[in-house]
Amino acid sequence: MTQTTVCFIGAGNMSRSIISGMVTHGYDPQCIYATNPSQPKLSALQQDFGIHIANDNLAIAKQCNVIVLSVKPQLMQQVCQQLSTLDLSSKLIITIAAGIPASRYHDYFKQPIQLIRTMPNTPTQIGFGMTGLYAQQGVSEQHKQLCQLIMQSGGKTLWVQQEDELNQVIALAGSSPAYFFLFLESMVDAGKKMGMDETQARELAQQAALGAAQMVIQNPQTPLATLRSNVTSKGGTTAQAVETFEQGGLRELVDNAMNHCVARANEMA
Ligand code: NAP
Repeated sequence: MTQTTVCFIGAGNMSRSIISGMVTHGYDPQCIYATNPSQPKLSALQQDFGIHIANDNLAIAKQCNVIVLSVKPQLMQQVCQQLSTLDLSSKLIITIAAGIPASRYHDYFKQPIQLIRTMPNTPTQIGFGMTGLYAQQGVSEQHKQLCQLIMQSGGKTLWVQQEDELNQVIALAGSSPAYFFLFLESMVDAGKKMGMDETQARELAQQAALGAAQMVIQNPQTPLATLRSNVTSKGGTTAQAVETFEQGGLRELVDNAMNHCVARANEMA
């Protein structure tokens, strides 16, 4: 079956993750294109996934139905202005860049565009990502489904109705892998202070994190507080640790950190 042609402008880490997921999930590599100024990343993509590659953004974007903008935010204006010489009226434009509002793409392209902003996170690289999606008014249902198909190759997706909700997606999913890494780092450091070696401490902490995440996922109807209290016997060891977190203001700290995250995203827009 012929599939829609998709080109990735910028063949870096995120493009590679998404392309890898698409091909793994059965998207025809002959319908996937990637461009990049330097050759090594392109050659690796061609070798690993059998996609088309090129250095010329304009020529490739012209022949594809979907354009995925996957360059660093500071290069976005230059890339969009180059592409603005094309007739984009029938194409879907997907951007994965953090922090650039939809209005700015309209300024860059200077023509009506069908734009979907996406906010993936780093676990997309291993198929466990969470991507927020926001479609501007006027984007067709067919284009929305296509975008979802592309982005869910890296994990799960969630549509938001308002653009500013993408900043909440950043606080909950885009930035949050770092919160969990920080928590794990702190646990491993504490384990080391108790005399355990780093490898052992990490093994114990990471497996506990994986197990806890799986328990949450496999029990969607169970309130998180119940999952917690199920492993917290009154007067026991876990109760002692949890009480220490509560007294130390963990909930307020998380609330504060996430609000600062959203505030920073607003500032950057
Ligand atoms: P990356 O690895 O640096 O990839 C960007 C690629 O763009 C590089 O391969 C670069 O090539 C290429 N490039 C530079 N100028 C170009 C041009 N004029 N035309 C075409 N390609 C060009 O960055 P990334 O981590 O994949 O991030 C890409 C986008 O995803 C960013 O906007 C970022 O905000 C967003 N994002 C990333 C993550 C993440 O976890 N990494 C998460 C969410 C969103 P050279 O290296 O050869 O210069």
